[in-house]
Amino acid sequence: MAFSYQENQLYIEDIPVLSLMQQYGSPCYFYSNAVLQQRWVAFTTALQDYPHQICYAVKANSNLALLRLLAKQGAGFDVVSGGELARVITASGDPTRCVFSGVGKCIAEIRAALQASIGCFNVESREELQQIEAQAAALGIQAPIALRINPNIDANTHPYITTGIKTSKFGVSEQEACALYRLAAQSPHLKIEGIACHLGSQLTTLSPFLEALAAESIHLKHIDIGGGLGIAYNQESVPTPQAYGQAIIKKLAGRDPALRLIIEPGRALIGQAGILVTRVEYLKTNLDHHFAIVDAGMTELLRPALYQAEQRIGSVIQKPYLPEKKYDVVGPICESSDFLGKNRLLQIEGGDYLVVYDCGAYGFSMSSQYNTRPRCAEVFVQGKQSTLIRRREPLERSWMDELQQDGSVVDLDG
Ligand SMILES: *Cc1c(COP(=O)(O)O)cnc(C)c1O
Repeated sequence: MAFSYQENQLYIEDIPVLSLMQQYGSPCYFYSNAVLQQRWVAFTTALQDYPHQICYAVKANSNLALLRLLAKQGAGFDVVSGGELARVITASGDPTRCVFSGVGKCIAEIRAALQASIGCFNVESREELQQIEAQAAALGIQAPIALRINPNIDANTHPYITTGIKTSKFGVSEQEACALYRLAAQSPHLKIEGIACHLGSQLTTLSPFLEALAAESIHLKHIDIGGGLGIAYNQESVPTPQAYGQAIIKKLAGRDPALRLIIEPGRALIGQAGILVTRVEYLKTNLDHHFAIVDAGMTELLRPALYQAEQRIGSVIQKPYLPEKKYDVVGPICESSDFLGKNRLLQIEGGDYLVVYDCGAYGFSMSSQYNTRPRCAEVFVQGKQSTLIRRREPLERSWMDELQQDGSVVDLDG
């Protein structure tokens, strides 16, 4: 167990979290090497009997140290911007093992990806296909492409993270895809690699994947089924990487054995490896409603405010002698939606530290500086060793790029 209590003290691997907080300050993200390795191995062993490539979805967590670690293990990457591609290259990732997703790739991003020999563009519209063709022609090369299909299947997720129904902006319809494949086949500057889909970022059942797979019957080099495998934020039942891998392979049986499988896990790979630890600044009670006001909020962890996501919250030091009360755990930001959890049974007092679990994905990567709050630190833990992988931002960073009205920069020395 990477996160466990010993004598009422929370440990991450072999280090007491309290001592890490004293060293690195609050709030802070921590990532467990053991959990990340275990998830990586689970995916690779699940797919080991089938030709495959795992393209980690960088947007889940784009810290360079984590990307570098995954690149070393042989991961490819799913990027959704030129910035993410630049991160992958900076972290020694291999661009030829990258797929480039996203509905709005701009010309500069397309050119940069072509120049870096991107593995494949996942194309999301006719106009984008034409733009990629034009840029490849200008560079005198061929662009590798796959079409991202919007299978018009509702995977029963939160409306903001549903991506596989026709009212969602993602992908092209199955009807249009055939015409676009024909167009691509005729172009000297486009090379058809595969087909892609992505059914929604928090699927907890496998069947939508299988329906989408069954719908495909074009001869291709790869089939990219995207990400979207969930994790159990609250003891929900979700498929393991093993069950997920086996179900896909079963569906692929009987197809062209040269058809390579690409998966793009983000959350399922890194989500459970991360925690956010935050300090209780104040407790207060309005009439009979209890609040724990903590030093992290929607700027550090946006999911509760954005998706009404529920993530488990616990104490870093268990204090069974304190009265148990139901608290809304809220941040210091001036927005009513700024909370980390509601109605949580906790035994706490001011100055305690709280842990929010399953923060490895869409935690730090969605953080902001709203309310002029410098972004917090990130720390990697391996056994008894901890490594700072992102410094807490110095306050001046918040306005460093802002200019005076005469065009001069702010003098950082005052
Ligand atoms: C976000 C995204 C993923 C990763 O989704 P998870 O739910 O984190 O697995 C994969 N592929 C694409 C195209 C995405 O946009």
